[in-house]
Amino acid sequence: MKKLAMLLLLAALLAGCGRMKTKAPEVTETQAPVEWRERSVFAMDTLMQLRLYGGTEELLDRAQERIFGLEERISVTLPDSEIGKLNREGRACLSPEPLALLDSALSLCRETDGALDITVYPVVKAWGFTTGNYRVPSARERDALLAAVDYSEVQILTDGEVVLPSGAQLDLGAVAKGYLGDLLCALLREGGVEHAILNLGGNVQVMGGKPDGSDWRVGIRDPAGDGLLGTLSLREGAVVTSGGYERCFTDEDGNLWWHIMDPGTGMPARSGLVSVTVVGEKGLVCDALSTALFVMGEEKALAWWRARREAELALVTEDGRLVLTPGLAARFSPAGNLAYTLEAADEEA
Ligand code: AMP
Ligand code: MG
Repeated sequence: MKKLAMLLLLAALLAGCGRMKTKAPEVTETQAPVEWRERSVFAMDTLMQLRLYGGTEELLDRAQERIFGLEERISVTLPDSEIGKLNREGRACLSPEPLALLDSALSLCRETDGALDITVYPVVKAWGFTTGNYRVPSARERDALLAAVDYSEVQILTDGEVVLPSGAQLDLGAVAKGYLGDLLCALLREGGVEHAILNLGGNVQVMGGKPDGSDWRVGIRDPAGDGLLGTLSLREGAVVTSGGYERCFTDEDGNLWWHIMDPGTGMPARSGLVSVTVVGEKGLVCDALSTALFVMGEEKALAWWRARREAELALVTEDGRLVLTPGLAARFSPAGNLAYTLEAADEEA
């Protein structure tokens, strides 16, 4: 018994953070053996798993370095990160990667009319979502903080220096994992990998279908529990979910509050949605949209989709519906015990 426990512990350790795992070749009747390699990395407060078919350990090392490199530069909880310094001093020169991410994030703030607002960070902090010391800030406190929330006031100067208005702080957490997914896919492609699946904690990015020619199957989490709403088949692209369940707390009066903020009110967004999944080509865009459309709510999110058609959506509503846009409906297999009413989004309003 003791021996078994030791073996299980050893297996758990080997499968743990940052360890390499290669699997014995899988042999199918029609194909040559296929070998995949996998790496688990704990970064950006989440467990990330990279699985590639082909490639090398050295390529996985480089991918891991890019993950830690980006985290080191943009994390708001590391005071010495570039964004940490910018938040502390109100201005800072950013290196190319954080600068490119910031620039794209600001465009997405504009495109979503401020439903995504990367300067909402002081409000997120006041609610305790960065530390776990949860509290409900008073209306007065929220109003004071909201005075400095405005992405349109962030200036990028020509020499790469970024200037924040007085009292403003920013956080790229709503878009960072999506950006990272795009960056890692590009790195793997350059390294000759054609098939890969990356799970960056709620953000999944797939490349090239499975080596046997079939699509990847990506599970979409049920916001009400640990199970799945169903699975999605996809050859290439990103599947990003924002859900109230990811980080939340219940206050003394029994109200549930979560980490996705409405930048207009300084309150957690209660838009009638409990999770938003966005499927599209680019991780960065899907990540920005999953947060922004959550804030907008069903009606505005679908209006946005009808106008733009840049991505497909799966919206879970507070009243128990799972609304799928047509491009997604065709790829979605609902779980057998699905507890939601499936609905197709109207193509026209
Ligand atoms: P996500 O999980 O991608 O939806 O991102 C949520 C994270 O982004 C939160 O933990 C906050 O740090 C931050 N955030 C919350 N609300 C917003 C918002 N409306 N715009 C930009 N960032 C936000
Ligand atoms: Mg997001």
